[in-house]
Amino acid sequence: MASAQCPECRHDLPETGSFSAWCPSCNWNVEPTPSPIVWIGGPIERRLVGLRRRFAQRQFEAMLARPPGAPKARRSVGAIVGWGLAAVVNLFPLALLIAGTLIIAGNWPSAGGIIWGGILAIVGILLSLPRRWRLPDGLDRTDAPALHGLVDEIADALGTRRVRRLAVTAEFNASYIATGVRRRPVLVIGLPLWAVLSPQERVAVLSHEFAHGTNRDGFRSGFMGRAAGTLAFLANATAPGSDGLILAPVSGAFAGLAYLIVYLMWQRSQEAEFLADERGAAIAGTTAAVGTLQKTGFWRYMQPVLDPIAYRLPGSDRNFFPAFRRFIAGLPELERQRLQRLMDREAFEESGSHPPRWARARYLESRPAPGSVILSPERSAAIDAETARLEARLTDVLLSQFYPNR
Ligand SMILES: [Zn+2]
Ligand SMILES: [Zn+2]
Repeated sequence: MASAQCPECRHDLPETGSFSAWCPSCNWNVEPTPSPIVWIGGPIERRLVGLRRRFAQRQFEAMLARPPGAPKARRSVGAIVGWGLAAVVNLFPLALLIAGTLIIAGNWPSAGGIIWGGILAIVGILLSLPRRWRLPDGLDRTDAPALHGLVDEIADALGTRRVRRLAVTAEFNASYIATGVRRRPVLVIGLPLWAVLSPQERVAVLSHEFAHGTNRDGFRSGFMGRAAGTLAFLANATAPGSDGLILAPVSGAFAGLAYLIVYLMWQRSQEAEFLADERGAAIAGTTAAVGTLQKTGFWRYMQPVLDPIAYRLPGSDRNFFPAFRRFIAGLPELERQRLQRLMDREAFEESGSHPPRWARARYLESRPAPGSVILSPERSAAIDAETARLEARLTDVLLSQFYPNR
């Protein structure tokens, strides 16, 4: 069969089979469906994005120049201002409650005082109610001793608190969050990502997440997140309905403040990612830590693996996970190369909090570490046996997410 030519550089295109065609010589079609870049507005926003990019690039170079070992996050003006703003917002409901109570007491027994004070106090109470966030289903220690054993070993190696709960979801990621008034840590493992990691890469993903815990990133993002959430709530509550003219500026101001908090935290969060990578690699080893970076791009193969499963008859083998593992194991070298090119093209400030993956890889490789917690293939297989019983249910979750109208 005559091979096709690249429409850009006229080189012969390599055979890619069922994968999309692309040109290794000039990168033609390396990204067949580019992720949509959403421009918020005109030249000012564009200049802001440009500024942030340059700033992120400079921060990366400064990080790279830092000597390896025991990294500590530095305080920045932006982070302190953001923290202060969040503190004011988080104290706002309490202030409303106190003001309302004082108004009622000061004007007692006037009806006006009771009504106005009462409204303020009730709004204060409503704002301080914890926002409901349902924890995903968990695996407890008796159900998953091998997985909990590994998770505890990594927490101990990093000198951070062991998790209160371990949740397993159908997402293609892993995360570490602090929940409740006492900010107890919860580890969330997305099984699709977990399924395609090598044993040592599993250690790398968990170590990275726990390293955020040693930096108290979870606590910090919880505090900032709560403030941003309150502001977003207020922006929605005051969003213009019929009497838009009066409320629009108020709602806009709340939304603007929410954006400002997120923005001020952004610089801090980029640094936090590099630090979590470095601390995590001290536990898992640099090779495994770098290996996970390319695998975070494997989410794009979930749909092609799910498609044939979605239309299979109920009762037949519909487990997504073994099929996904087989698919990834069979990825042709050329397709892996394409993913690597995609990684190398990422820009700073493209995906919010995370630096581009090539920058994370370069940072990791600038301070190589052998790793201290080793997960043997046998132990990793024991963990697979524990998570296997969640596979059928999580396949159903995936099917309902990807094919809501099936
Ligand atoms: Zn070409
Ligand atoms: Zn992270």
